Amino acid sequence: MTPDDLGDCPLCGAAITESWLLIEYETTEGTTGMWAECPNCSDVVDPE
Ligand SMILES: [Zn+2]
Repeated sequence: MTPDDLGDCPLCGAAITESWLLIEYETTEGTTGMWAECPNCSDVVDPE
C-alpha cells in the first residue's frame, strides 16, 4: 500500500490510487467516504 492508495476495488480487488478519486463526502457518522472509478473494471466503487 502506497501513500496515494485509496484502497482496493470491492468488486475485482484492483488497487485504486488517488488519481481515480471522483468525490469525497462526509458520512452521517462523521467519517470521510469516497467514490472512485476502478481502473480495472471501470465501475464506480467505494474503495475498501
Ligand atoms: Zn474493479
